[in-house]
Amino acid sequence: MEAKPKLPDLEAETQAEAARLDALYGYLPPAEIISRAVELFGRGDVAAVSSFGADSAVLLHMVAGIDSALPIVFLDTGKHFGETLDYRDALAADLGLTDIRIITPEEAALNRDDPDGKLHLTNTDACCAIRKVEPMARGVEPFRAWFTGRKRFQAATRQALPVFEAVGTRIRINPLARWTTGDLADYMKAHALRENPLVAYGYLSIGCFPCTSIVQPGEDARSGRWAGQAKTECGIHLPELDRSLANAAH
Ligand code: SF4
Repeated sequence: MEAKPKLPDLEAETQAEAARLDALYGYLPPAEIISRAVELFGRGDVAAVSSFGADSAVLLHMVAGIDSALPIVFLDTGKHFGETLDYRDALAADLGLTDIRIITPEEAALNRDDPDGKLHLTNTDACCAIRKVEPMARGVEPFRAWFTGRKRFQAATRQALPVFEAVGTRIRINPLARWTTGDLADYMKAHALRENPLVAYGYLSIGCFPCTSIVQPGEDARSGRWAGQAKTECGIHLPELDRSLANAAH
């Protein structure tokens, strides 16, 4: 009997596949990247992840133009602004998105680690692990690939962001990686897209309400996330997701 390929071999193959796709398609306009990726991976095997944050409408509008039934994974951490939840529903209706998948933290993990909902006050990494990283792994686990709305300009840590990248044995696609704030604003205006109402108050990167603050002039868009802490990412885009995905698959 033929031996099954080992996980490290599959991961190395996926890394090579991501690099090849990046070289082949990474330079294309974002909507074309989305269209090629849907064709390549096939409907049912690709999704989009959205926070319904400051400029999420751009990616979602492009996705809706290609396949309005594409699954959209939204993590409901239990700590979102009410405005974001209302915006999610209104924007999905505007764009005709028909498959919004709302993923919530595991009840048992909340009861065990955050029974009073105050874990974010003492340990943001542990809070993100149960409210974001594990649910995200569950949300994307059924898919071979997924789109995100991440951009290079958002933070110093994202400056080298590729369009196609490997996450374990899966592929994450960042079609807007090269876009600037000007490109996004032009697109929003050209298509008269609904904006998250919090943007008008100075929130340029929007996550959970306890960990999001208004961005000061001259600071990068993500400086309002976990302001005053060294933390810049919640872990859903880092190796933590890879580990959590490996657990979710078993
Ligand atoms: S962003 Fe804040 S509230 Fe949200 S999961 Fe992370 S630590 Fe918890």
